[in-house]
Parts: sequence; C-alpha cells; structure tokens
Amino acid sequence: MDRRSFIKQVGVTGAAAAAATAVSAPTVWAQGKTFQWKMVTTWPPEMPILQTGCVKFAKRVEELSQGRLKIQVYAGGELVPPLGTFDAVSQGTVECGSGASYYWAGKAPAAQWFSAVPFGFNPQGINAWFYSGGALKLWEEVYAPFNVIPRPQGNTGVQMGGWFNKKIESLDDYKGLKMRIPGLGGKVIAKAGGTVVLLAGGEIYTSLERGVIDATEWVGPLHDLRMGFYQAAKYYYYPGWHEPGTCLEVMFNKKAYESLPKDLQAILDAVAMETNLWSLCEFEAQNGQALETLVKEHKVQLVRFPDSVLEGFRKLSAEVLEEEAGKDPMSRKVHDAFKAFKAKLGPWGAVSEKAYYDYLAQA
Ligand code: CA
Repeated sequence: MDRRSFIKQVGVTGAAAAAATAVSAPTVWAQGKTFQWKMVTTWPPEMPILQTGCVKFAKRVEELSQGRLKIQVYAGGELVPPLGTFDAVSQGTVECGSGASYYWAGKAPAAQWFSAVPFGFNPQGINAWFYSGGALKLWEEVYAPFNVIPRPQGNTGVQMGGWFNKKIESLDDYKGLKMRIPGLGGKVIAKAGGTVVLLAGGEIYTSLERGVIDATEWVGPLHDLRMGFYQAAKYYYYPGWHEPGTCLEVMFNKKAYESLPKDLQAILDAVAMETNLWSLCEFEAQNGQALETLVKEHKVQLVRFPDSVLEGFRKLSAEVLEEEAGKDPMSRKVHDAFKAFKAKLGPWGAVSEKAYYDYLAQA
C-alpha cells in the first residue's frame, strides 16, 4: 500500500482506524529505530572463543536485526579495565559486557554459582540448570539490584587444573603457594593454605614469568597454549576440579535492554543461546590438538592430581560452599537451588556418560 492510498483508507474507515494507527505508531517507530551499543569484556584482545565469541555475538545480532542493533566490542582494557566490566554495564557507561560471574563475587557472593562450582556441574548440567532448572531466573534476581540482566553466552567445557613449577603430591604442597585461580576454586586453595591472586587474563603470563605468582590456572589446552604458560611452568595438571564446565556470560544494562523493541530483545537472547552452544563446540573441536602440541612439541609434563589431593579439595569445597552460602540470604537460596537440582539429576550421569567413558578407558 502506498502512502496516498493508506491516507485515503484511513480517511474512509474513519475514527477507529485512526485510533489504531495512533496506538501502533510508537511501536512502528521503535522497530525502525537503529541502536548503537558498546560491549566491554574481561577478555584479552583476539582471545579465541572468549573474545572472538563476543565479536561473533555482535555480528550475529547485527545480521539478525538487519542492522537495527549494532554492537561495537571492546576487549578488556580497551575502554575500561577488564574487571571494571560489571560496573560499566551496571552504571550504564556501556550497554553490555562479557565475563564470568565469579569475577563479581565481591559485589554479589551468590553470582559465583552461575559460573563454576568446584565438583559441580559439567556443561550439560549447568546448561540444564539454566534453561530447564530455573537458574536463569535466579541469576537475574542476583543481578537485579545492579540493573544488570545476565545470559549464559559460552561454556569452556571441563577445564585443566593448572600450571605448576613443582609437583603436587599432597594438599601440603599448596601451603604458601601463590596461585592465580578465581572463584570458589580460589577459596578452596586459600583454605588449603595457598595465597590466591585475582588477575584478568592479560596479566597472568607476566606475573607467572616474574614469579609474582607460583602457579596459575586459566582455561584448557587451546587457551593455555596461546598464553605461553609452558614457557614459564613445567607441570600441567588435570582435571580442572574447580571449573568442570564454566559458564561465560553476556550482561545487559537493564535500562538499555528494556528500551529495545521486543524483537531485538528476543534476538539478543537467541544469539546468546546460540553463542553458548557455539563456544562449547569450538572448545571441544580444538582442545585435543592443542593438548597434543603442548605435550609433543613443548614437552609439557601432563600430570593427574593424585586422588588424595582431589579428595582433600572435595572436602574443602563442601566447607567453602557452606561458608559462602552463609554470607547472605541470596547465596543461601542459590546454593539450596543448586543442591536441589544436583539431586534431581541424580544417578543419571553415572549410568550414561560415566559408564560409557569407563568402558572406553578399559576397552
Ligand atoms: Ca579457569
């Protein structure tokens, strides 16, 4: 319908049509409006999957919105310090950001459960908790006082235990050890007598090389290879008991998100879910080759934590979780929900994946 016949028709059908046009006008206007957003992240520039996933996120949002929502992405430190991401989103300095919720434990202890819990969920488990177990609603509740809306945006898969310059034979080896390890896992290390240092990705290598820290964990083979840790530490431990399926987040400033038309909000949500799946697939596809390069080319010594050490960590983790849950009512609520969902998953993993992997290992 061209403009002239539209006007004519309004004229003919009278007051009802005119009223309808008046009501729908703001919607039409908002849908045609173009939004230009900024995203800041905690990730080093060009860091595969973590940072490139954010760039991909922005690109997909622009594509699906047909250019109506454009997001300029800034890596950690380019616009605000990496660990200033949450505040920047909360205060509306930028419209969105990406990180991992355990970075914000100092602001909201309950946030930690939504990134990684030691001896907690693997990627399937945490995604099931978010999308089918009510955790996304809980996470929104935790961030609401900060005017931030969270969404899962990635998953690293099971991480590695970390890089050390001495062998870990018992929990005593952690006494006095300075280690970069975030989140609840860091609190477990502190309980074991270690000194925990919180550093964003871009600061870790030099700290390890200069001896500011004795050990570090980061992600898994793909990312650890790229960070060059094999040049500064000799032993590469597994498994990553502290991060068995870490969720990465995208956060939206509440006011900015709510000022968008519903279809653009839906696009942000859908692309966050898409990027969540994509990132896990990328980790899965690339970690194996990277591990081989580390071991064969760089002669890294791959070592499994002794059972006694893992058992010690597991006990300390249970204590840490109880302590953290006692910090405020929200943390207690989230911890209780976490435990309830874990109980709901029940023995399924043991008769599905565990049984399958056990068989493959001995076959
Ligand atoms: Ca990690």
